[in-house]
Amino acid sequence: MFEKNHIIGWGLAGATLAWQLHFRNQKFVVHDSGHNHSTRTAAGLANPIVFKRLTRSWNVDVLMPYAQTFYEKVGELLNVRLLSGKNIYYPFTNAEDENNWSAKMGDDRFKKYIEHTTLKPFEHVHIPHGMGKVNTFGNLDTNAFLDLSKNYFQQAGVLFTEEKTNWTITQQHPEANYIFCEGIDVIHNPLFSYLPMKTSHGETLTIESDELHFNDVVSKNLFILPLGNKRFKVGATYNWEQKEPFTTVEGKADLVERLEHLIDCPYKIVSHQAGIRPTVADRRPLLGVHPNQKNAFIYNGLGTKGVMLAPYYANHFLDFFLDKKTLDAEVNIQRFNKRFLKSTPLA
Ligand SMILES: Cc1cc2nc3c(=O)[nH]c(=O)nc-3n(C[C@H](O)[C@H](O)[C@H](O)COP(=O)(O)OP(=O)(O)OC[C@H]3O[C@@H](n4cnc5c(N)ncnc54)[C@H](O)[C@@H]3O)c2cc1C
Repeated sequence: MFEKNHIIGWGLAGATLAWQLHFRNQKFVVHDSGHNHSTRTAAGLANPIVFKRLTRSWNVDVLMPYAQTFYEKVGELLNVRLLSGKNIYYPFTNAEDENNWSAKMGDDRFKKYIEHTTLKPFEHVHIPHGMGKVNTFGNLDTNAFLDLSKNYFQQAGVLFTEEKTNWTITQQHPEANYIFCEGIDVIHNPLFSYLPMKTSHGETLTIESDELHFNDVVSKNLFILPLGNKRFKVGATYNWEQKEPFTTVEGKADLVERLEHLIDCPYKIVSHQAGIRPTVADRRPLLGVHPNQKNAFIYNGLGTKGVMLAPYYANHFLDFFLDKKTLDAEVNIQRFNKRFLKSTPLA
């Protein structure tokens, strides 16, 4: 059977798009090469605060509630709890850090996201100056989201192919629509390689410890995310030079050093993961249609914030794709048209 709509890539972008198509009663086929590393490596955190500058995450008032409702709805359909509900605790470095936090708490725009906590600092975690609490829906179990969603759609008769889809398919089948949700692999797609995508390589460790007993997330220069069964995910590194999703000796050493600044108890490393975040030069998602190849679409550029961004922008993409509404200029790939004209235009 020939389907009109094809999703290429089964990461956060492809899977959220699939659900949004499904909610609009649209049929689709999924092609995925099976080499997912970004969504499968992610901690799945949704942090409304950018700790580095103590600012709010972009568009957070719209994106957070939308994402929470979306994952809860999908979780109900899958009969599983996809969101952990864990809060994030931010250890203060010094009194000034705490003062800055208090100042933000007095700002209406921050009120619902941050507060002080009287909670005792977690045992074996070095928190000498107290900590702030960030309210969030916790983290998304990204692997469960991908696997259970795929299972759900397969049972509903959706075709999944495990193959790398070549861009030329858009010319072979002009009657079909191809939505490229390829994550960082888009840099190898001649149709969209003109877009300014940056490889943001990241590594995490999974550790096991008998002596760490907290259930929420601690995050400063490093996050420690409890996974259950004495296990914790620890991350992450940022490396703009490393172009392949391989683990590195340097990445591991960096994580170990930062971890040992934060905790003072024995642990063992169980595994080491790496992935590449699809980050755009201007840190905004990439949505739209190819300037010349009118059946080639893109939904990408989720960067470091895929969990929060993906549900809302998948829906926004469909407003454009199905209902012919205008895309927000900030996320529309038309903002890079000059780069396209300077490149060797394909198609
Ligand atoms: C270490 C690390 C930690 C992170 N932590 C968080 C976090 O806590 N919170 C958060 O929100 N985000 C986090 N992220 C970012 C998050 O992972 C990304 O924003 C998001 O997963 C990107 O999803 P995607 O679908 O665009 O890409 P991907 O997950 O990379 O999926 C793309 C898929 O497309 C497939 N594909 C590509 N090209 C083709 C083709 N031509 N044919 C067929 N298949 C193809 C690939 O195999 C892959 O499965 C983290 C990332 C890393 C690396």
